[in-house]
Amino acid sequence: MSVAIYPGSFDPITNGHVSIIRSGLVVFEKLIVAVLSNPKKQPLFTVNERIQMIREVFPKEEAQIEVDSFEGLLVDYCDRKGARVVLRGLRAVADFEYELQMANMNRHLNTKVETVFLMAKDAYFYVSSNLVKEAATLGGDVSKLVPASVADKLYAKLGR
Ligand code: ADP
Repeated sequence: MSVAIYPGSFDPITNGHVSIIRSGLVVFEKLIVAVLSNPKKQPLFTVNERIQMIREVFPKEEAQIEVDSFEGLLVDYCDRKGARVVLRGLRAVADFEYELQMANMNRHLNTKVETVFLMAKDAYFYVSSNLVKEAATLGGDVSKLVPASVADKLYAKLGR
């Protein structure tokens, strides 16, 4: 079975992520969406909240989408899961250099792991979790940029 790991912060999952996951399922039979638990970052949502939100967006795809969390090196997590492919999304040019560095570093650390890039639907090309959080904090309407269940939780978390 072809399996890819889609790692990220997903704080919270946006329609950009959803688009990458849906495209990923065209290419791979199974995706492991892996929420990075990074003690250095101050996330808005806990790892468990983020996992729960991702699961809620894909209620029917349980067989094809596993949602998990990991700490430490991504390539070590790939080994633990027996996966050889990392899926990443590319936004506008700004992502390219960072993603290239990450892919090269991961290849350096483990030559057996390959990174595959997909692009989100054009409507979500500029959407990032950080911008969504910033706009929502300032009272902006982000309901078209994240799934409805996520928008509700975002507004609740921000006390709106
Ligand atoms: P990170 O904290 O590493 O940026 P994210 O949760 O923001 O992780 O994103 C995980 C992956 O999804 C990254 O490869 C990122 O480039 C990609 N991604 C996020 N939003 C979009 C989008 N709107 N279009 C394409 N790729 C995206």
